Amino acid sequence: MRLKGGEMNTVYMDNNATTMVAQEVIQEMLPYLGNLYGNPSSMHSFGGQVGRKIAQARQSIASLLGCSPEEIIFTSCGTESDNTAIRGMLATHPNKRKIVTSRVEHPAVLSTCRELEHHGYSVAEVGVDKDGRLNLDELNHCIDDDTAVVSIMVANNETGVVFPIDEIAAIAKAKGVTFHTDAVQAIGKIPIDLNKSNNIDMLSLSGHKLHAPKGVGVLYVRKGTRLSPFMLGGHQEAGRRGGTENVPGIIALGKACQLAADHIEEENTRVAKLRDKLENAILQSCPDSFVNGDTKNRLPNTTNISFEYIEGESILLMMDKFGICASSGSACTSGALEPSHVLRAMGVPFTAAHGSIRFSLSRYNTEDQVDFIAEKLPPIINCLRELSPFVSTSG
Ligand code: PLP
Repeated sequence: MRLKGGEMNTVYMDNNATTMVAQEVIQEMLPYLGNLYGNPSSMHSFGGQVGRKIAQARQSIASLLGCSPEEIIFTSCGTESDNTAIRGMLATHPNKRKIVTSRVEHPAVLSTCRELEHHGYSVAEVGVDKDGRLNLDELNHCIDDDTAVVSIMVANNETGVVFPIDEIAAIAKAKGVTFHTDAVQAIGKIPIDLNKSNNIDMLSLSGHKLHAPKGVGVLYVRKGTRLSPFMLGGHQEAGRRGGTENVPGIIALGKACQLAADHIEEENTRVAKLRDKLENAILQSCPDSFVNGDTKNRLPNTTNISFEYIEGESILLMMDKFGICASSGSACTSGALEPSHVLRAMGVPFTAAHGSIRFSLSRYNTEDQVDFIAEKLPPIINCLRELSPFVSTSG
């Protein structure tokens, strides 16, 4: 975004990739990067004061999730939480050899499951329809006596589609199978109350998706759920995850959860309005564009839009010249652009999956930024279409 002096400003709409750390969060964690460096496990009071602050953070996170502090295990990220849940549950049930998940999970779950297939486990990946909605009949059918864990996400990172997680968890519970959910994209964006959602046994979240820094995550484990530890070492986290705590990160996450709990409703209404304004402006001004995913059940901050006949990477590069940050739905695998596994699972045509762009907003986006993208994007799309070998120029 051009400022008056010609200087470029960033228009950051890639919040599903990572978020800006909130100023309040930085202030809260700073003393623990400075003078208050004690080890929370130490017997002396210098470490003890850090331990008490961690207990406070645990309480704030538990309040946001509607659970008790003892059910929170701190990890290093969402990926570690997902790995702990899946691998830990397989280790707890050595006689069971099957995992049930979905085709649209984040690689933190999907790659883990696919790697486990090489170790003799079987994996059922439940499909979705063209709007990214999970096939619940297929899910029901896949869970059997051999299933150790069902892992299905709350909200999709690429499309923002939100699954009916209570209904899904109830299906697993009716079959007596432990249910884990990757809620990395949901926490802080939509309310989750584990007190009410009592069929969810385990849940993953990640600090850097909700305005805390990178390098801290949580695995919630419902009281009474048996889970073998994934990371062995010291007695931290009541023996459930060894390793000296990321103290500043944990304190930051506590503050970020408190901010989310205090403002979630008003923020979501405001962010959803901005997202809708952006989406409508783009759809109206760019022909042959459409939204991917179920727009009725979607995170308030996310829109995934396909622009037919052009490549997402080219759009990203041209937007980058204006300081606009977003994501595309393709990934560069072995030198070739591969459309995302999520869009492929939804059956989005190849020409459209290649040209998909995800805008993901946050509380820090403004109406001016939406107007700026609405002005800059249509000429970019026109320009790329003129260059595209897939678009007929004859009429
Ligand atoms: N799960 C989902 C749905 C995600 O979107 C991400 C990150 O993008 C992860 C897991 C991994 O989280 P982390 O980056 O904290 O490892």
